[in-house]
Amino acid sequence: MSEETFCHFHEDIPTRLSCVSCGKSICPKCMIEAAVGFKCPDCTRASKSHIEEITPRNYVIGGLSGLIIGTGAGYIWYQLSVYGILISLAVAYAVGFCVSKAISYSIGNKIGLKIQVFAGIITFISLMYNPIVILSFMTTGVFPSFFLILAAMSMWCSSCIIKLLALVIAVWAAVRHFRI
Ligand SMILES: [Zn+2]
Ligand SMILES: [Zn+2]
Repeated sequence: MSEETFCHFHEDIPTRLSCVSCGKSICPKCMIEAAVGFKCPDCTRASKSHIEEITPRNYVIGGLSGLIIGTGAGYIWYQLSVYGILISLAVAYAVGFCVSKAISYSIGNKIGLKIQVFAGIITFISLMYNPIVILSFMTTGVFPSFFLILAAMSMWCSSCIIKLLALVIAVWAAVRHFRI
C-alpha cells in the first residue's frame, strides 16, 4: 500500500488529486476547475491577478490604439447619426466594439474592472469629444475657443435621447468585452 497523501490546504483530508500547475495536493473542497484539469487556490489567484494586472505601458498602448480606432469610428458615427435612430445606435455599438477590440488586441486579452473603466472612457471620448470633429471645428474658426468647442460638442451629444442612448450603448459594448 502506498502512503496516503493529504490535501495541502486541508491536512485532514486524504486525496489523490494534485494541482496541474504546481503539483500540490488538493482536495474536492479547494480545487478549482482550470482550462485543463484542476488548480489549487494559490495558482488560481496568481493567474487571475496576472490577467487583471494592467501595467502603465498597457494603458499607454491600449489608450493610443483605442483612441485611434475610436476617433475614426466615432467620426463615422457623427456623420451617419443623421440617417436615423437605428443607424446611429448600430454604429455606436460598432464604435464600442471596435475600441474594445483595439485595446484588447494591443495589450493581450486582459480583463477586469480597471480595463473596463478605461475602455469605457476611451469610447466616451471617441463619441463625445471626437478629435477629428474638434479639429474640424477649430479650422472653421466659428468657435472662438477650444473650451467652447467642447461645450458645443457636449450639448450636441446630450441634445436628444437617441444620442444619449447611443453613448450608453457604445460604452456598454466596450465595457462588456472586458468583464471577468
Ligand atoms: Zn497550484
Ligand atoms: Zn483541500
